[in-house]
Amino acid sequence: MKIINNPYELRKELKDKEIGFIPTMGALHAGHLSLIKKARSENKTVVVSIFVNPTQFLEGEDLDKYPKRLEADSKICEIAGVDYIFAPNIENMYNDSDEALIKVPKVRGYILEGHFRPGHFDGVLQIVLKLFNIVKPKKAYFGKKDAQQLALIKQMVKNLFLDIEIVEGETVREKTGLALSSRNVYLSDIEKKRALSISKSLKLAAKLSIKEKNCEKLKEEMLNILDVDKLQYIAFVDKKFNYINEIEEKNSIILIAAFVGNTRLIDNIYL
Ligand code: AMP
Repeated sequence: MKIINNPYELRKELKDKEIGFIPTMGALHAGHLSLIKKARSENKTVVVSIFVNPTQFLEGEDLDKYPKRLEADSKICEIAGVDYIFAPNIENMYNDSDEALIKVPKVRGYILEGHFRPGHFDGVLQIVLKLFNIVKPKKAYFGKKDAQQLALIKQMVKNLFLDIEIVEGETVREKTGLALSSRNVYLSDIEKKRALSISKSLKLAAKLSIKEKNCEKLKEEMLNILDVDKLQYIAFVDKKFNYINEIEEKNSIILIAAFVGNTRLIDNIYL
């Protein structure tokens, strides 16, 4: 396995290779690993990027304290059979203070995460497009844990005619149900227990939705068991991120964003 920091050097290395690519911000956990394993089984060459992208963090968010563990991450990647880690620094990726920018779609980019984190998805699409242009993957792997991000990336690939297959990975959870996230390290033991109410409420809604299709009613049931400090949203959308009032079988996602203590958590369930 090689660790490369320079985009041009990586490009040279990857020339003419068929690549499966997993973009990450590092602090790798079993969620990332499931994407890496999937890529390993489907591609000749596997590339993982590790880059905490500043343009997708808002002022006052956790950019400075975001966990950084390149050494441990490298070991995980090596054991998983990754061929290349791309770990650029900020100067490698942003070499001009006046850059060409990509904007998210006006409607789907500014609801939910885009509403509570304005500008976040502009930064996500900007870095993902840069990474795609450097790595030139055949397939790129993204987790359903970040459902809106996944939908926007799929839309960008389609709108910009990128010749890349986007592969979706299921959300990996702790045995308790808590969705794995690099940000879970911020949670105290008590907060972690309270955070379980998020996945529990999603599971409950999924179970009830077999009979109850009305989203408002499902939301009421979820609110009864949620134990969080600040709920930002419970939302019901179809897979293209249009809001829905009634559950549509195999085409609905329930999403939650909430703070437990100072930690902002997101989770969702595909129905
Ligand atoms: P991040 O490092 O948080 O930017 O995530 C990198 C990729 O891993 C994204 O495609 C995420 O959706 C995915 N990911 C994060 N957490 C999980 C999880 N618990 N299960 C599956 N995929 C995940």
